[in-house]
Amino acid sequence: MKQTKLTIVVPCYNEEEVLPISAETLRSIMQQMIDSNQVDGNSKILFVNDGSKDKTWSLIKDLESKDNIFTGLKFSRNFGHQNALMAGMKVAGRYSDCVITIDADLQDDENLISKMVASYQKGNEVVLGVRNDRSSDSHFKRWTAETFYSVMGKMGVQLVPDHADFRLLGKRAVDVLMSYKETNLFLRGIIPQLGFNTDQLYYQRKPRLAGETKYPLKKMLSFAFDGITSFSIAPIKAIMSLGILVIGISLVMVIYSIIRFFTGNVISGWASIMTSLWFLGGIQLIGISVIGEYLGKIYAEVKHRPRYIIETDDYSATQQTHVNDTVHDLAGV
Ligand code: UDP
Ligand code: MG
Repeated sequence: MKQTKLTIVVPCYNEEEVLPISAETLRSIMQQMIDSNQVDGNSKILFVNDGSKDKTWSLIKDLESKDNIFTGLKFSRNFGHQNALMAGMKVAGRYSDCVITIDADLQDDENLISKMVASYQKGNEVVLGVRNDRSSDSHFKRWTAETFYSVMGKMGVQLVPDHADFRLLGKRAVDVLMSYKETNLFLRGIIPQLGFNTDQLYYQRKPRLAGETKYPLKKMLSFAFDGITSFSIAPIKAIMSLGILVIGISLVMVIYSIIRFFTGNVISGWASIMTSLWFLGGIQLIGISVIGEYLGKIYAEVKHRPRYIIETDDYSATQQTHVNDTVHDLAGV
């Protein structure tokens, strides 16, 4: 029987502090799986350097020279977590039967990796790592995450709660995923749309090993907003309802003004005019900005610019079944 060739894809952005520890942990897990014949001896750990400004890439190069289980991909600049995952999966998918993505800080339980592969070998094409508790998170992070999933649910975006980007995808799922050409990537929204036999495995998320989160509040909010506007037009519909509500209120105001007119109190009313002026102005601005957000998204999609640009692809360079890379392949569109 042909053995499963696995590639573990690890996106890295300024991860010099955790990389040596994570690399060693992943290497020993991979080695165990190879020794027990669970996966092919040519299985790889692929680091995607997402334009790090620290020593991350030279650390990856070091690892590659010491052990050929490690390989690396280097972006020409920072393209973001989701694009790093996409590029890693695309390159890995060419040479592997299945791909697992895991963050460099190993907050996700690396011991699940072998169980994910076992589940794949039982016939599951998609295996999702799902957190069963968030005790390692700050109250604030927990609260924002809960709000996020509930808002997404209300907007009609189907997500698996507490599943982030720790998952296994079989080659077929990776191939299909690559046909999603959107520039505004929100992977955890797309994955449930792929279908295929899907399994969920539960784990406890740990605190970050070292270094700082690369998702500060501002980035987190913009990621959440991106997720909503990439998958749902509920905000545009909400503006419509708001408009109808405001028209309803203004009708009441008209009736009220007419009554005041006939009862002779017409001068007073400055306050109500001013408040409604500001109120309506505010609503209009919100309305325009929400529509603008969608317009901006369409603009970005229509231009169809590359999602990422690969500067160095050490993985393809070491494969016998080397695929001739065209520029198109190096620029992920
Ligand atoms: N990351 C990346 N590009 C970025 C930001 C983050 O590749 O622009 C990587 C980062 O190195 C890590 C993963 O994405 O492997 C998740 O980031 P982090 O652990 O900081 O996020 P958190 O777990 O705090 O949400
Ligand atoms: Mg993390």
